[in-house]
Amino acid sequence: MKLAHLTWKDVDVLARDIVVVIPTGSLEQHGPHLPLMTDTLLATAVAEAAEARLVEEVLLTPTLWLGASGHHLKFSGTLSAGFDVYMGAIRDIVESLLPHGFRKFFLVNGHGGNAEPNGVAMRQLKARYPNSQFGHANYYTFAEKAVSDRLVGPAKTMRHACEAEASMVMYLRPDLVRTEKLRDDGLQPVPAVLGMVHHFDEISEEGSLGYATLATPEKGKAILDAAVDGLVANLRALAQGYVFEGE
Ligand SMILES: [Zn+2]
Repeated sequence: MKLAHLTWKDVDVLARDIVVVIPTGSLEQHGPHLPLMTDTLLATAVAEAAEARLVEEVLLTPTLWLGASGHHLKFSGTLSAGFDVYMGAIRDIVESLLPHGFRKFFLVNGHGGNAEPNGVAMRQLKARYPNSQFGHANYYTFAEKAVSDRLVGPAKTMRHACEAEASMVMYLRPDLVRTEKLRDDGLQPVPAVLGMVHHFDEISEEGSLGYATLATPEKGKAILDAAVDGLVANLRALAQGYVFEGE
């Protein structure tokens, strides 16, 4: 069910063990070839497709489009929330629904920069409301195998405005892809060093990371389908309930 399409009377009579799904995206630069709404578009598409298959089990909120994108702010047009405001928005959405009895919450994230604050926000909520259930995952985590199987460039994981993201936007919104501007981009530290935090203007010439020139809509569909299948299985398990077994 889509929260935004319901009336308050409709919400009032919902089963309280329905899984509240909150997609999180961004409005940030995605190179010269993809739109600023890329992460929001993709997280929304995956979450809406999952909701369509789990209408009775899922209550889908509108996508939080304002992400934690401080590492992209050197590029024009990027809009970002600071971490406190971003995590506060997540907490406030959840704390609007908790007093009405909803108790299962799951964030479906489309932007790498949101992953850590999503985790912190969920842990803070779990500490405050230990009898409720809180979870979060990046939609592309459910499609890791499809991504590594399908990508033909040297990078076999999701990067940024990359072969995978460009493929998915080509499939969903070809009108928003600047095909003539598709580019391969990304700078490596020399000598190699792990564990560093970088801003995108340090590690990319034009804002992207990966091999977007290899993108195709077919690849995009395959990755999105895998993400939806994985998310549906996960949300179904959460809706039905699970137990802990073993030692
Ligand atoms: Zn992205």
